[in-house]
Amino acid sequence: MVLKSRKSAGQTNETEIGTIRKSWRGRLRFALVYPNHYHLGMSNLGFQSVYRLLNDYDHVVCERAFLPEPSLKSRTPLRTLESGKNLKDFDIIAFSLSFENDYPHILFILDRIGLPARSDQRGDQDPLVLGGGVVSFINPEPIAPFFDCFLIGEAELMLPRFVEVFEAGSNKHANLLTIARNVPGAYVPAFYSVNYQRDGTIASFNPLEEVPPTIQRTYLKELSHTATCSAILTSDTTFDRTFLIEVGRGCPHGCRFCSAGFVYRPPRFRPISQLAENINQGISLTDRIGLVGAAVSDLPGMGELCNIYKDEDIRISFSSLRAEGLSPELLSALRQSKVKTATIAPDAGSERMRKVINKGITEEAILTAADALVANGIPNLKLYFMIGLPTETMDDVEAIIRLCKKIKHRFLKSSRSQKRIGEITVSLNCFVPKPFTPFQWVAMDEVGSLKKKIQKVKNVLKKVPNIRIHADIPRWAYLQALFSRGDRRVADILQLAHTHKGNWAQTLKATSVNPDFYVLRDREVAEQLPWDFIDQGVKKSFLQQEYQRALKALPSPACRVETCNICGVCNQEPQNRPS
Ligand code: SF4
Repeated sequence: MVLKSRKSAGQTNETEIGTIRKSWRGRLRFALVYPNHYHLGMSNLGFQSVYRLLNDYDHVVCERAFLPEPSLKSRTPLRTLESGKNLKDFDIIAFSLSFENDYPHILFILDRIGLPARSDQRGDQDPLVLGGGVVSFINPEPIAPFFDCFLIGEAELMLPRFVEVFEAGSNKHANLLTIARNVPGAYVPAFYSVNYQRDGTIASFNPLEEVPPTIQRTYLKELSHTATCSAILTSDTTFDRTFLIEVGRGCPHGCRFCSAGFVYRPPRFRPISQLAENINQGISLTDRIGLVGAAVSDLPGMGELCNIYKDEDIRISFSSLRAEGLSPELLSALRQSKVKTATIAPDAGSERMRKVINKGITEEAILTAADALVANGIPNLKLYFMIGLPTETMDDVEAIIRLCKKIKHRFLKSSRSQKRIGEITVSLNCFVPKPFTPFQWVAMDEVGSLKKKIQKVKNVLKKVPNIRIHADIPRWAYLQALFSRGDRRVADILQLAHTHKGNWAQTLKATSVNPDFYVLRDREVAEQLPWDFIDQGVKKSFLQQEYQRALKALPSPACRVETCNICGVCNQEPQNRPS
């Protein structure tokens, strides 16, 4: 292991783990860009993991860049953190895309580098602009015109082939053709044409070259051959010098609003022995370990893993916990880590609505979890709810208020016995219907209606002592829906917003593209959706069936990997080790 502490060009104190700084000479040069600020990018394990994967190739050098801090003068060219070189001097500019609301930053960054926004306006001499990350494999179409290529799926399988076939300095079209034909998961938007019907829906999506008509998402069947851990420790992140370890990918529960729960199928977990090795590596560097995944408390053997470290002077944190998954070992690990706030996500207030979204948690389980957390010395709770879910009535909204009051009642009782009364933060989030979920066909709730519902909850709960409320801004959720459900024409709106310097009120007034068409329209099941060209393995008929069950408030069982074929993923061709 190579450890190196340094102050980088960005003047940030970092400890690099295992990455050897290399010269540029004769190497393929990647600028890996996170389209938001440093502390958010460095909190993202996916971003860190691609940085490590690329630097592990001897013939590749990868450096990082972030959205410039507002304090940086607007004319200062965007440079990488490691060598301070201009991004224009790299062979490839690779964007790591995790959140749709970062899309406007892509245009800002390309502008700052001095590159034309659209792929068809960039030439052979310009760096190749590459996109990857979860939002790009859910629906890359709203940003497709800005990218030369996307890698759709999990990086470990795509990057080796990409760096093998990419030819720096060669003809861009020929290079992209080789990539599209030879790299699994590669999608070159320019090689496909989209035709529209008179009503604005998609008529056809066709390849213009000899390239695959659909793009199959790549995923690793077996995670035990690869570790996904922090490549750099820094105090300037949400997880202050925490060594992050991915315990698994995917989630077995199938909550119907959650795209990650469908596009990362099947759920996969790493073996305990491998995770213990990763933790041992982490504790040789820091006393903070962060276990990351969509379903951390579902890890088989989690209790055993927590027990191994119960007498160590370390703090283990968990990125997600399900209310019914709080085992005594996990609670004791939380107590030991001196966590001040734990999050419970009931997501909906009423039992009926939790069945609609297939949350699979009863009110009693939520109350018991709140009790257990407080009894184990965690003083504060954060409760996560969604507003505007399909079939929601005012009674469901009021159920959020009722549930919060019940939790508060139990919380106070347990807190008194602990002689410490903490705080409950209620987080109200607007539901955005996402691609590749059973709710992909439904319209989003209108901004005015969301505002009213949020106000209703706020008006009551703000009077309750020890409860704080934090609510989404519905206008931003509307834009998120536009960016996640749009087709290629949404790129025009993004470009217009860039010319209006991010003034969305002016942009939405001036655009000739109707944003409501994407956000507020229920779609027919037969409609060709912008993201239908991606094959995630999950059958559309399964999503449709889940939608019908949602309308009847019928829950569905969690994944039963190895015994089940319901959604279609587990009978796909297996993909295995990275080459
Ligand atoms: S086929 Fe069954 S076990 Fe496999 S991902 Fe789909 S629902 Fe889960």
